[in-house]
Amino acid sequence: MIVKEIILRAQKLDRYDVGETIERLASKINRKPSEILKLNSNENLFIPINFVRGLLRQVTEEVDPRIYPRDEFRELRESISAHHNIPPDEIVIGAGSDQLIDLVSRMSLREGDEALSIAPTFVIYERCVKVQGGIYKSVPLRNDFSLDLEALLSSITPKTKIIFLCSPNNPTANQFRREEILRLAEDFDGLVAVDEAYADFANSTLVDVVGEFENLIVFRTFSKVFGLAGLRLGYVITNKALAEVMNERLQMPYAVSLVALKTAVKMLENFEYIEGTIKELKAERSRMIEALNQIDGVRAFPSETNFVLFQVNRNSLSVYRNLLSRGIIVRNIGRVLEFNNCLRVTVAPAPLINRFLGELREVLSVEA
Ligand code: PMP
Repeated sequence: MIVKEIILRAQKLDRYDVGETIERLASKINRKPSEILKLNSNENLFIPINFVRGLLRQVTEEVDPRIYPRDEFRELRESISAHHNIPPDEIVIGAGSDQLIDLVSRMSLREGDEALSIAPTFVIYERCVKVQGGIYKSVPLRNDFSLDLEALLSSITPKTKIIFLCSPNNPTANQFRREEILRLAEDFDGLVAVDEAYADFANSTLVDVVGEFENLIVFRTFSKVFGLAGLRLGYVITNKALAEVMNERLQMPYAVSLVALKTAVKMLENFEYIEGTIKELKAERSRMIEALNQIDGVRAFPSETNFVLFQVNRNSLSVYRNLLSRGIIVRNIGRVLEFNNCLRVTVAPAPLINRFLGELREVLSVEA
């Protein structure tokens, strides 16, 4: 029976664990939702809620949601084009980079094809490859979190259609060298898909060269630097030929809501303001890494993202659970290459991070 087959096939995929939610944790530990500190999904709390609500209010006055969005796609592509200084016909808009990662997997893989990535990295690539019946292979990073380019190149087989690279990488928080990624794109004739969800918190990007390559794709999102995770909006930048077939044939014609498209245009008009928040975030990130490293038994790794990976000299799952019981949600990562007991925490404005640091200190001293 087809339904049975669908269920059996789907059950082979890992469940996507979004972690604890504010409402669920609040009721479990008998606290108000407003007392829960959610630092597990790299959302951006440096963008003030009143600023976002102000833009949304303007948008709701302007839109007619009875009508499908159409011109608004063009309008946003033009804004993104001006923002990155690239042609608008190199841009494909989607409902979050997750949806675009799925689209790119669908267009590049058939049953039995291989996709290559790194380990550890963002889990959605593996999920999208497997949904297609593809085979997902990964090459471990080196212990300094750098790319093992030779190992990647030698893992390519005639069946390899796509390489996913997350740069800066989640969860290791480092960006890979531009020359290395470009060398991969030159030496491999499949697609090289680079996820730059966190690139605005780092120092470089491939956005300026992507159009010159036949096989390079960059994913960007409004969820991180622009703080619009709840609106679900991302985009792909690639060469014109690929962008054209994606826009005209592969992406759904109305994949994104009118409200998301319009709000993003307004966000980009305010980029100078956003730049100020990036500066603040980077300053808080440095302070936070320093403070973490001063706690006995904690080692925080450098970060070019809006999260920090840190190792504890205890069982990270029990540290995670103890933080939960105090109303703080982080992400338990566990082993990262040679480093066991790692956790990941989102960089947030100082008062929130101070509370997190205080609770972490207590958890570690109680556990000792
Ligand atoms: N790529 C990476 C590396 C991420 O960490 C995330 C969010 N966790 C995403 C993509 C998803 O972004 P979006 O909200 O645009 O789907």
